[in-house]
Amino acid sequence: MTTETIAPHGGTLVNLVVSPAEAERIAAEAASYPQVVVNHRELSDLEMLATGALSPLTGFQGEKDYHSILETMHLPNGLPWTIPVTLSVTEDELVAVGSADAVALLSHAGAAPLAILELQEVFRRDREKEALGVFLTEDREHPGVQALHGAGDHCLAGELKVLRLPQHHDFVKYRRTPAETRAAFAERGWSRVVGFQTRNPIHRAHEYIQKCALEIVDGLLVHPLMGATKGDDVPADVRMQCYEALFDGYYPKDRAMISVFPAAMRYAGPKEAIWHAIARKNYGCTHFIVGRDHAGVGSYYGTYDAQKIFEEFEPDELGITPLMFEHSFWCNRCEGMGSPKTCPHGEEDRVSLSGTKVREMLRAGQKPPQEFSRPEVAQILIDAMSEGS
Ligand SMILES: [Zn+2]
Repeated sequence: MTTETIAPHGGTLVNLVVSPAEAERIAAEAASYPQVVVNHRELSDLEMLATGALSPLTGFQGEKDYHSILETMHLPNGLPWTIPVTLSVTEDELVAVGSADAVALLSHAGAAPLAILELQEVFRRDREKEALGVFLTEDREHPGVQALHGAGDHCLAGELKVLRLPQHHDFVKYRRTPAETRAAFAERGWSRVVGFQTRNPIHRAHEYIQKCALEIVDGLLVHPLMGATKGDDVPADVRMQCYEALFDGYYPKDRAMISVFPAAMRYAGPKEAIWHAIARKNYGCTHFIVGRDHAGVGSYYGTYDAQKIFEEFEPDELGITPLMFEHSFWCNRCEGMGSPKTCPHGEEDRVSLSGTKVREMLRAGQKPPQEFSRPEVAQILIDAMSEGS
């Protein structure tokens, strides 16, 4: 190790994956435990807990944590935390669990257990409080609120012993745990690293923001979220092709890296922006890009809410430094990329397209102007849309 980056949230990088020998012993014991099948969101959370992406958490959270987070945006020990990480069960599943002191967690019925939850507590979730506390709305049209109402009434809480990580067959070379991204940063000699969260293809505006950030640090981690997203978001494999094309053509190999962020989207806007920043700190990022409407959906959050929420924390309690960015664009008179902070010209000089307009063009097989989108990226999206239709 030549370079030290930032300390994980709470000081220690958690690793819940047991040794192969212990896994074998536990798996034998686990045969007699009640089994619980986790949903997609919980499976993502399980992977993040296992690898320390959610350090300092060591399992699914209990009632005290739950209320503390919803009421104060902090864990009972005072560390910032904005979204409870819970494991829900239905009434029937709860009956099946009975008075067991441990349960086996499965990705699907009939699978071998992924992890053992040492059952410390069962509590009833408060949907109204959770919806308002996390999503700031009770509207059931909100995808996060909808998921909350689809989940069971009770939560199982306790420490996890993870026998194996959930298996992935896609993007395998881009899947790095926090320990692995930290090692990769050290190997490249990066001590200051900026993380970029995305669940969309990257056009020139976001490329510009990333490169502005990269000007002041050593390295860039493009960290696309590849857990569950809404059905109308661009599919993960198409997005990955776009990132690869961009990296091939326009990014410096020794300064930028793509890695998969296995989280599921909550669409919790500001609360998720903080949660995303904390997770990226665990992956070793010292800086985190917060754009407009980060993790937003529909019109539930104000354009700058995800940036403003950072002011509610003391800078040293989060540790990671947020970098706030404006909407950016190509300006014909500046002859370059800029934002309202740097370009004095009017709308008529700027190449801006709405998301709806871009989708329309791509669907019609038409490339947006190269000032808006790299032609390689536009082509991939056009091809994907013509296959999909
Ligand atoms: Zn200008």
